[in-house]
Amino acid sequence: MNALAATNRNFRHAARILGLDSKLEKSLLIPFREIKVECTIPKDDGSLVSYIGFRVQHDNARGPMKGGIRYHPEVDPDEVNALAQLMTWKSAVVDIPYGGAKGGIGCSPRDLSTSELERLTRVFTQKIHDLIGIHTDVPAPDMGTNAQTMAWILDEYSKFHGHSPAIVTGKPIDLGGSLGRDAATGRGVVFATEALLAEHGKSIPEMRFVIQGFGNVGSWAAKLIHEKGGKITAVSDMTGAVQNPNGLDIPALLKHKENNGALKDFDGGDAIDPNELLVQDCDVLIPCALGGVLNKDNAADVKAKYIIEAANHPTDPEADEILLKRGVTILPDIYANAGGVTVSYFEWVQNIQGFMWEEDKVNNELQKYMRRAFGNIKAMCQSQDCSLRMGAFTLGVSRVARATLLRGWEA
Ligand code: GLU
Repeated sequence: MNALAATNRNFRHAARILGLDSKLEKSLLIPFREIKVECTIPKDDGSLVSYIGFRVQHDNARGPMKGGIRYHPEVDPDEVNALAQLMTWKSAVVDIPYGGAKGGIGCSPRDLSTSELERLTRVFTQKIHDLIGIHTDVPAPDMGTNAQTMAWILDEYSKFHGHSPAIVTGKPIDLGGSLGRDAATGRGVVFATEALLAEHGKSIPEMRFVIQGFGNVGSWAAKLIHEKGGKITAVSDMTGAVQNPNGLDIPALLKHKENNGALKDFDGGDAIDPNELLVQDCDVLIPCALGGVLNKDNAADVKAKYIIEAANHPTDPEADEILLKRGVTILPDIYANAGGVTVSYFEWVQNIQGFMWEEDKVNNELQKYMRRAFGNIKAMCQSQDCSLRMGAFTLGVSRVARATLLRGWEA
């Protein structure tokens, strides 16, 4: 099932639980605006190459649309649509005053030089600059993009609209970025994990973790879990997977990655088949990479008791059903990885106020938002007698539905 079909199915299930009017349901599902642009750039060797860029603005009932920009070969209209919709529910779940959007370019950023990436980002920004805005749609990093990408967008956008630090979040600190934003998604994953484990009378130091993906989210989550005394027994990235049943030396692994750019050839554990990673013996599995990695082919073999969805839509609906039946507890993406957009909101607030916060304040506020959202989701689960995923979806969808109804329909 593709990402959009899976996301729509979850949304419809939530709409049914909430008893939403069918017209409202339809209006919440259809994106506000879908943008598709051609981005042609000269490569460093002088040849021309064309890419397709997307921005899907899903919903703005609760505030400016918000979401990352992804550079990845698998970016396509359906995936961007699904991710934009997830951003709408995610912002609502953590109760920040945003709607949802997502963008992307179908490209392989690893095969582009820094100057090619800069040209591509500037051309994309030129094509969408009049459709984004501080109070309309605020991009951020996602897979394959980072603070530097945001700096180029900020610079290009500012040529048209004047200096506008709040046009993007996740930008470098020197350009108005927030302390704590780089770590925020991983830190939010850890706060979410703590909230879930506490509910089950457990804590991080008692648990064995497996982490799929060692990019921004996976490496921050690993670092923070390790610092809190959790044992990480296996991790993977695009270059391979490594396991050590006694617990990996995460600081050494982070150093290895810093020096080599990847996990490959790390000698503090045994190399394993990356496809086997998700079914390794552990207590908590944290997928931090692509969508759809847990599916009907591997769900029955997952050993973890808890799955924390740090990636967006890592579990497809068939796997969801199998895992739920097997008693595995899944903390859904629209809550588990919401730390990134929550600190993006803090960054935007700081830019608009022109007053920067200390890192402790950022982290403490993030913890507050994550704890409160967990309590709200649990309350939904209890009142609707549903899974954590449906608890999060019904919470997010009901907040957006209320905002939509309050605004009214008159033209
Ligand atoms: N790309 C991140 C996400 O999927 C962050 C989005 C943002 O900060 O706007 O949640």
